Parts: sequence; C-alpha cells; structure tokens
Amino acid sequence: MELRTDLLIGGEWVDGAGRFEDVNPFTEETIAEVAEAGPDQVDDAVRSAREAFESDEWRGMDPHHRARLLNRLADLIEERASELAEIETRDNGKPSFESSRVDLPSVIENYRYFAGWADKVGGKTIPVSGPFLNYTRREPLGVVGAIVPWNYPLSLASWKVAPALACGNSVVLKPAEQTPLTALKLGELALEAGFPPGVLNVIPGRGEPTGQALVEHPYVDKISFTGSVETGKKVMRSAAENLTEVHLELGGKSPNVVFADADVEAAVRGATTGIFYGKGEVCAAGSRLYLEESIHDEFMERLLERTEKMKPGDPTEAGTRLGPLVSAEQRDRVMKYIEAGRDDGARLVAGGGTTSVDGTGYFVEATIFDDVDPEMTIAREEIFGPVLATLTFDGLENAVEQANQTIYGLAAGVWTRDVGKAHRFARDVQAGTVWVNTYNRYDSASPFGGYKQSGFGRELGKQALDEYTQTKSVWVNLD
Ligand code: NAD
Repeated sequence: MELRTDLLIGGEWVDGAGRFEDVNPFTEETIAEVAEAGPDQVDDAVRSAREAFESDEWRGMDPHHRARLLNRLADLIEERASELAEIETRDNGKPSFESSRVDLPSVIENYRYFAGWADKVGGKTIPVSGPFLNYTRREPLGVVGAIVPWNYPLSLASWKVAPALACGNSVVLKPAEQTPLTALKLGELALEAGFPPGVLNVIPGRGEPTGQALVEHPYVDKISFTGSVETGKKVMRSAAENLTEVHLELGGKSPNVVFADADVEAAVRGATTGIFYGKGEVCAAGSRLYLEESIHDEFMERLLERTEKMKPGDPTEAGTRLGPLVSAEQRDRVMKYIEAGRDDGARLVAGGGTTSVDGTGYFVEATIFDDVDPEMTIAREEIFGPVLATLTFDGLENAVEQANQTIYGLAAGVWTRDVGKAHRFARDVQAGTVWVNTYNRYDSASPFGGYKQSGFGRELGKQALDEYTQTKSVWVNLD
C-alpha cells in the first residue's frame, strides 16, 4: 500500500517546512514521516485555492459536471475502500469492523448525497413592491478552510469537503496531526477524479502553526472546524480578526436516559455501544448514563455482563470491538479522568486500567463508574474515551433537568415505550440530535450539530448547503 506523505497544493505534491512522526497506536511504531505545512505552505495552499475558485475551469463549470466529479470521486473511494479503511485503522486504532463497515460506506454515501445537490442549489424570485423583478442567487463563499480531528478522519472530512465542493467552493483541508493519511489519499483520488488543481488542497500539520495559520489567513472565506470546545474558542477568536465566518462542531457530554418502562435489553445494547463504540472517542458518545431508580440494579447487572465482551484487541482483526486510543497522550488524559472519578468517590464497577495486546497499544479498558454525582468531574467534562458515568433519576421532569445540566448540547438518547414521554423528552432536551430507542444513528440527509457550547451550524443534510453558500439579492427595473 503506497502512502502519500507530502502536502497537496495546487495539484502538486510538495514538501513542507518539516516532518512529523505519524504513529500507529496499536503497534506504537512510526507509520510515516509526514510533511508539515508551515505558514508559507499554508499561504501557498490558500492562494492556490483562491486561484482555483476564481478560475473559469471551476467557477464556470456547469453544476451537472460538478455533480459528475463528486460521483466519480465517490466511485474511486468505493474502489479503494478496503485500502482506505486499512489506513484509517492503522492511523487511528479503530477496529477495522468500524472503518470498513461503517466509516467508508458513510463517506461514499456523503459524496453521492452532495453530488445530488450540486445542480439543485438555486435562488428564488421574491414578490416585491414596485415595477421590479427581485431574485436571489445562491453563490459559493470562496475558499473554505476545513479543520478536522482524529476520531473520524475521512468521515468528518467528507462532512465538509462534499458539501463545500458541491456548492462550488474550493477547499484547504487540514487533517489532525495524529491521522493525516486518509486525507492525503482523498486528495490523490480527487485529482484522479478530475477536480481541477487547487480545488482541493490537503495540508497536514499541528494545530499550531498549521491550523492557526489557516484560520488567520485573510483569503479564507470560511473556517469549518470540528474539534474540542477549547480549540473552537481559539479558532473563533482568531477568525474574528478578519471577520472570517466560522462553523464550529465541538465536544459533547451526551446523556443517555433509560426509563423504567424501556426495553431493557435494547437499552443495555444502546448504552454499551453509546459509550464503547469508537473507543468512546466519539463527540456524541453517550457518556452520561441516567437510569430510572427502580431499574438501576437489574440494568447494571446486564450492562456489566455486556461490557465483559468489550475486550481490547488487534484493531486489524475482524472480531475486535475495542481498539487502542489514538495516542499515548490521549490514553494518559483519559486515565487522569479515571483517577479523578476514583478520587471524587464514584464507584468503579468495570475496567479502570490501561492494558495492552501482545505488549503494545495505547489501550484503556472499558470502564464504568456507578454512583456518580452530577457535580463530579467525570459527570461534567468530556473524557473522550471508553469511560461511562452512571447516575440515577426519578421521573421525566427530573430526567430532563439532569440531562440539560451541562455546558454541552450535541446529542441525547432516550429509552422508553411511552411515546408521549419520548417526544416530550425530545422536545425539552437541549441537544442538536435526539435518538429515541436507538443511539449513534447518522445519515447523509439528516442534519447534525450542537446546541450550547457544542457549537453552531449544521453538517449533513440540506442545512449543510447553507453553510457553504451566500445569498445575493438582484433588483431589475422593469420600467
Ligand atoms: P482539537 O480541538 O485538539 O483538534 C481538532 C483539530 O484542530 C486538529 O486538526 C488540530 O490540529 C486543530 N487545531 C488545534 N489547535 C488549533 C488552532 N489553534 N487553530 C486551528 N486549528 C487547531 O480536538 P481533538 O482532540 O483532535 O478532537 C477531539 C475533539 O473533537 C473532542 O472535543 C470531540 O468532541 C470533538 N469532535 C466533535 C465532533 C462534532 O461533530 N461535534 C466530531 C468529532 C469530534
């Protein structure tokens, strides 16, 4: 398998200001030395994106043709899906079951879905007073800087790149320094699909200098950022300098609420995948489990039984469900939270330690705390690892109140057989996505984004088109 390790700028593979090591979190070995874009290369990438945006070749391309290019890119990703999934697993540590059966199919779907929109984004005629024709045009913004984290590298890139290109923008994509490899492959496939040079540029590098230089660049028209709240705030502050538009998809501490009348078996499954899928390195992870008091003991017993099956394993093996965390740094961060849970007096009922498989890997065991108090750190802060905080509640009102007791508002789950209760919870919970009797569902057509400090703006679905277009109002005198 040939890896790309240079920067893609203006259709050329070029060297960076330096190189950084990209480590496989399972073997702990260096996979590649990847070029890092310094401020000069960021400037080159943005300028080439600007040129591409203004070129006749891209700006003047008819929308049907843009749709064809996106579909062609989807076809190429599909042809290379197993290779891309394998790279993702080596880079991130996620089980190959997840990268090949979930991530890649959804990436392909996203490019096809937004290919479908490319020739359907149009304006309106508006009934105005006087002898005038007034109509609107939906126009692309220009250069989009897309900054993504390491948990779903190819997938989250597709959430931004697909709609941005469908709407006629050009893109500079900065993958996370922990997982740059599939983004570079995407750049290669975009060239092969026939996108003009400069329409998609890929510049790996750390948050600082690379990400920051991109956010601060005056020729960038929009920053679409996914990452932590802390970095999101920095990005917004830096973008304010040039009044660059920002779209922020940030962290979460999502409540997963189980009422006593729920299908307990299904809810146990939902609680387990809600926190352990993706090693818990999932923005929408159901990391706060709320059990109605009367079912607490029975539920915990079944949850612990199921958690036993979450054995750490080699992520490249088909049967593995729990891979290593993305880096030693992330493992240590998660372990600090586990210590905080212990120190605060929560009851550790599963996991709680680091482990390895055949002597290597940044693994953290599937961990569950019971008797968690809402004020404890593990109930309030995003851990971003396989660590569940269990709390109890009494009745709908109390469930909503506790679910909303957070600075975040990305997602929420509710389990009940009472339709009215489910919809009332869905109405009152402050979250951008609510799952009823299910968890972790996504679709290219359904919008996703945060309330409160989980960010603003929406990805996926028709709403994503609003993020990558602006409206022009045209007046024509008919007299
Ligand atoms: P992070 O904020 O540290 O990094 C995210 C990206 O921002 C990386 O590419 C990083 O290099 C870059 N970056 C860092 N500092 C920067 C700066 N000053 N200027 C510009 N770019 C900078 O986050 P992470 O640890 O990589 O990812 C985990 C976080 O992402 C979690 O909080 C998680 O909840 C969030 N996340 C959110 C969603 C969502 O859709 N809401 C999805 C996935 C992950």
